[in-house]
Amino acid sequence: MDQRLLRATWLGGLGVIVSAPSLVYLALPSSGGLWHRLSVLTGLLALSALVSAAVLPSRLRSLNRAFGIESVIDLHRFLGVATASLVFAHLACVVAAEPANITLLDLTTAPGRAKAATISTLALVALAGLTVLRNQARLSYELWKLSHVTLAATALLAAALHVLLLDQLVRNAVIGTMFVLFALMLAIVFGHRWVWRPMFDPSTQFVVHDIRRENPTVSTLVLAPCSRDGGPATTWAFSPGQFAWIRLDRSVIAQEHPFTIASSAHSDATEFTIRHTGDFTKALRRLPIGASVWVDGPHGAFTNDIETSAGFVMIAGGVGITPMMSMLRTAAHRCDPRPYRLIVVASAPEDLLFRAELAQLRRIIDLEVTEVLRRPVEGWSGPTGDVNAELLSAVLGGTPPPAEVDCFICGPPALVTDALGALELLGATPDRIYTEQFDMA
Ligand SMILES: Cc1cc2nc3c(=O)[nH]c(=O)nc-3n(C[C@H](O)[C@H](O)[C@H](O)COP(=O)(O)OP(=O)(O)OC[C@H]3O[C@@H](n4cnc5c(N)ncnc54)[C@H](O)[C@@H]3O)c2cc1C
Repeated sequence: MDQRLLRATWLGGLGVIVSAPSLVYLALPSSGGLWHRLSVLTGLLALSALVSAAVLPSRLRSLNRAFGIESVIDLHRFLGVATASLVFAHLACVVAAEPANITLLDLTTAPGRAKAATISTLALVALAGLTVLRNQARLSYELWKLSHVTLAATALLAAALHVLLLDQLVRNAVIGTMFVLFALMLAIVFGHRWVWRPMFDPSTQFVVHDIRRENPTVSTLVLAPCSRDGGPATTWAFSPGQFAWIRLDRSVIAQEHPFTIASSAHSDATEFTIRHTGDFTKALRRLPIGASVWVDGPHGAFTNDIETSAGFVMIAGGVGITPMMSMLRTAAHRCDPRPYRLIVVASAPEDLLFRAELAQLRRIIDLEVTEVLRRPVEGWSGPTGDVNAELLSAVLGGTPPPAEVDCFICGPPALVTDALGALELLGATPDRIYTEQFDMA
């Protein structure tokens, strides 16, 4: 499906989830005072926003392809904040409708429906607090993810219990049916995300074919699709630049981490080039040949599979070159005649990856590579310093990228911000600039 149509379909679907129960409620014959009606409305909107926020990060490939993982996570955060705000507005309306309702907050005396609401609210507050304080509290990604998922599940289940025990809304045939549809949708989405994909889906299994050392801290993991009982190997199709989650065990509690697919979309082997920064990436380097790994993907919209593009500007920092390698390798396979301008930024010459292969690719496709070092070093005659408009303008021949050129930036946050600003200064079309940062939390 065309990218714009896909986005419009998803936005329409999310819009229906967020607004439909409230619109139906507004259409019902008016009963109760204004504050009561407002309390029901804010409660319904909070529930719908919570359901949408829970669906967004559930690894729906077409959703991630439509918006890109960064926008999906941004929307998830926005809906999380909207849910919390609506919950507080709901509480304020409940008390405004009947001041004695303040006693419903007392967990020792409150009826079940109010207890469920308070538990859901506390879980939401803890969830928001943990997300904001994650870096200050130096919480590991795994611990943060476990607490985030547990608190989100608590908030969702307690909110559902609150609505069920209230009884008033579920008795309305239309709203009740919508709640059943919400529950079914969540069961399917969560079942796929947490049970089918990690534990049963045979297409996720690959075997380690090779591990190539690129430099002392970076290696390439070469995977081959798993052939079952001598049968046909798993088929695997992705767009160059997309990423996948890798896990080392077929289990829902196994750690899983995202990595960009670095190989060509037309290659038999699937390659991931990985910097060994922590426990998981170091464990990947030690895998024996023939070991099984599980790959959940492809995901994301950071891809140059764009037919209307006249050419590409790519800016990569460090290991952020991986999506660009997939795009360039695929372009070579496809004999793509369009111009590719690659700017690679590194701290030291030894951190510049794939130099020999890029030289080879330059003979096959219209590729120009500019290497930039963050700081000058002895013997280096190439450009140094920050990526700014001056540097980009020199690399791009003094002309702004034409309107049909697509620009890709991947690397550390500072580089992404600098390059984005520089491209915009040079007049690049904002909706033709794609960014990816290797941090999702
Ligand atoms: C879309 C995307 C594509 C990526 N592609 C590549 C790639 O091609 N090559 C590469 O070397 N790295 C890539 N990364 C980064 C890679 O996922 C992290 O370096 C890796 O997860 C670190 O794990 P660790 O346990 O070894 O290190 P740790 O020291 O435990 O983690 C280092 C940091 O990585 C982040 N991180 C850890 N676990 C996860 C996780 N499960 N999900 C998201 N972020 C996490 C956290 O911010 C953490 O602080 C990518 C990240 C994203 C989001």
